[in-house]
Amino acid sequence: MAHQQFKTEVNDLLQLITHSLYSHSEIFLRELISNSSDALDKLKYLTLTDEKLKDLEFTPQIDIELDEENHKIFTVRDNGIGMDKEDLETCLGTIARSGTKNFLKNLSEESKKDSNLIGQFGVGFYSVFMIADKAEVISKKAGQDKAYKWTSDGKTGYDIEESERDTHGTTIILYLNENGKEYDNRWQVEQITKKYSNHIAFPIYLHYEKTEYGKEGEEPTKTPTVEQINSASALWRKSKNELKPEDYNEFYKTISNDYEDPMFHIHTRAEGQLEYNTLFYFPQKAPMDMFQADYRPGVKLYVKRVFITDDDKELLPTYLRFVRGIIDSEDLPLNVSREILQKNKILANIKTASTKKILSEISKLQNNTEKYIQFIEQYNRPLKEGLYSDYANKEALLELVRFKSTSVDGWTSFKEYKERMKEGQKSIYYITGDNETLLRNSPLLEAYAKKDIEVLIMADEIDEVVIPMVGKFDEIDLKAINKTGAADEIKTEDDKKSEDSVKPLIKKIKDALGDKVKDVVASSRLTDSPSCVVADENDPSAQMAQMMRAMGQPVPDVIPVLEINPTHEIVTKLSDIKDKDLIKDVSFLLLEQALLVEGTALKDPSAFSKRLNRVLKMAL
Ligand code: ADP
Repeated sequence: MAHQQFKTEVNDLLQLITHSLYSHSEIFLRELISNSSDALDKLKYLTLTDEKLKDLEFTPQIDIELDEENHKIFTVRDNGIGMDKEDLETCLGTIARSGTKNFLKNLSEESKKDSNLIGQFGVGFYSVFMIADKAEVISKKAGQDKAYKWTSDGKTGYDIEESERDTHGTTIILYLNENGKEYDNRWQVEQITKKYSNHIAFPIYLHYEKTEYGKEGEEPTKTPTVEQINSASALWRKSKNELKPEDYNEFYKTISNDYEDPMFHIHTRAEGQLEYNTLFYFPQKAPMDMFQADYRPGVKLYVKRVFITDDDKELLPTYLRFVRGIIDSEDLPLNVSREILQKNKILANIKTASTKKILSEISKLQNNTEKYIQFIEQYNRPLKEGLYSDYANKEALLELVRFKSTSVDGWTSFKEYKERMKEGQKSIYYITGDNETLLRNSPLLEAYAKKDIEVLIMADEIDEVVIPMVGKFDEIDLKAINKTGAADEIKTEDDKKSEDSVKPLIKKIKDALGDKVKDVVASSRLTDSPSCVVADENDPSAQMAQMMRAMGQPVPDVIPVLEINPTHEIVTKLSDIKDKDLIKDVSFLLLEQALLVEGTALKDPSAFSKRLNRVLKMAL
């Protein structure tokens, strides 16, 4: 086969690795071991479930061979599932993971230099090119006869040819460069392996030549030696007091593709009716693909320490898709097929209990304000999705989500809002939209500000969908102030009087605007602005309409309700005007400026500017 070029994204990734991770080159070993461990997991599962591989007997292991004399070659071998020709092409010639692809696409030149950013996605196999000029991957897929060799210098591309290998599995041979020489050293390898891969579930053997010095004048003898260098005990099955924070952190990196320490972890052992161990982690930064439909699930399922799957999106509720970790059950049958997992009662119970546990740990996190803010900045939005989809945990989630507010800086909760409510205040008020600054300047807030009533600023597009559905917090209604109706509650007697005074004018404005508005009403919520637009209680608001359009759904043309401020000078003066054309111009200007303030583009800007100029001319 002719020499193959890497896909462009592979080239980008290789560039990135060489520039930003150079000083952390030791992670190449963690990446290789974790690939081998995955390959062993996969094969073990197939021997339990696949008819063709049922009779295959193998003792899973990983071997590392050193060349301590010449410091030229470094070999990592496993007897896992192996790769056929096609696998080698797709796995090592392209980047399979869409999260990584998108990440690279969006990365600015500046941020490419930041190695912390790179840490957010796995660099995987390609990290070997930090320490090697050339890599050979010789692999034979379990159940097949042919072996293949993939060769690359990590620059120009790769070649694949037929090759030989005794058993199934993969051998990675690295031809070390200057930077890589230091790894051909047993102490180094032992230390790096213990640091990153001590608790992977399979033994790692180190092969080297032990030198023994005899009597003076005699040649030292060299004996080939094999030594297991990791503890190979599944970390999640250990008891908490045996484990140090570093153990948890390093294990996290082997299962998550993340390069940074996790934000925190939750380690649980359940005994009794159901027996299982779970170990969950929250990444410091939300996973790159969190908002992509084809996100990679982060939780692996094991049964009695045997890996079953890392590709089941149902192990936890979808909104907790940022959680990484392990579920290991004692009660599921070992040969459980992935297909029937979805309907399995045991697993459903573990899911319910784990969800409760995770939410209660998040709740505890609230005691540490700084840490909780850090959490919210990453995961507020998925939690809000939970409000929509996880009815059973709605109450718990309502305590966890956070919003901006007109009364306090930073984030606040429904509970805190409730504690600050004024005497006699009936509802929790909020305003929704997609831009926090626009919302904070909305004329709709004026009356609330004047009466010193707090309004929650909901600028996340998901709020608009979720909050109306939630409806209440702790028996208190949640009311959107950019809908008709909400204002009535804060009306005073004076407000009612001045509303009555503009009734005749309202009729004139309504006639002038015709079908451009659904209604014209006097408003008690404006103080400085002459007018504002609101959506009818039953209509989708402007932002909602935009979202529906983006999702390709038909949107009814939403016609706004115009509210005018009966005490504003423009309005009081307009009441006395007889000139029909002028009333019409001013009516339109009241509507159009309200739309502009709300952030809605005008349908006919030139007509607007003509009107504005006519009125300006008269004023001068
Ligand atoms: P990741 O492991 O995060 O998917 P890598 O770049 O490390 O990314 O590996 C790419 C793919 O190559 C793996 O997903 C796997 O399918 C395959 N692969 C890598 N190493 C091995 C191995 N030792 N045995 C079998 N398959 C492997």
